Amino acid sequence: MAGGLNLYGFAGGDPINFADPYGLATDSIILESEEAKTLFDRTTRILKLAADREDRHNRRNVELLMDEIEKVRASDTDHLTVGIGECERGGFGCYDPDKGTLRVDVEYIRKASWSTRRPVTTAAHELGHFLDHRRFFGASDEAVAMSIEATLRRSLGMGPPGAPIRPSGTYHSLEGQPSVVP
Ligand SMILES: [Zn+2]
Repeated sequence: MAGGLNLYGFAGGDPINFADPYGLATDSIILESEEAKTLFDRTTRILKLAADREDRHNRRNVELLMDEIEKVRASDTDHLTVGIGECERGGFGCYDPDKGTLRVDVEYIRKASWSTRRPVTTAAHELGHFLDHRRFFGASDEAVAMSIEATLRRSLGMGPPGAPIRPSGTYHSLEGQPSVVP
């Protein structure tokens, strides 16, 4: 970027309106809102920290996931859009490989499964589907999604997928602070 400010690389290539108040559109990972940005950042941060404590298989899955996220970030043609909101076919969350969209329906989770599931576990699960689609493991895509979700859950002391979340909702996080699971 020596020699000048590259306005076309910023704000989704819209140098006229420069409409990017949160600085969310700086690369090919498109975070639709502040809430989506927080959820994506938190989920990937926990996964990265968690990977160190995992067995080889789960650690490898997280490493591959981070590789794929970096590839999308560096790509001119790929993108991944992360948003909070309803999925076309309903459910807690969804990843659409054709559109490159990942959504987490926080309201649906709150109403249907708040005792066992949170936005951050759903985001991890859907990132597993994203990984499976990008790497074509040949395994069941649900197995990959569960592996990523379980890695995140273990790191927060949440128990396996489907297990009740303690009513207090407070966990010892890897960063050493008690934290409320989002
Ligand atoms: Zn799934």
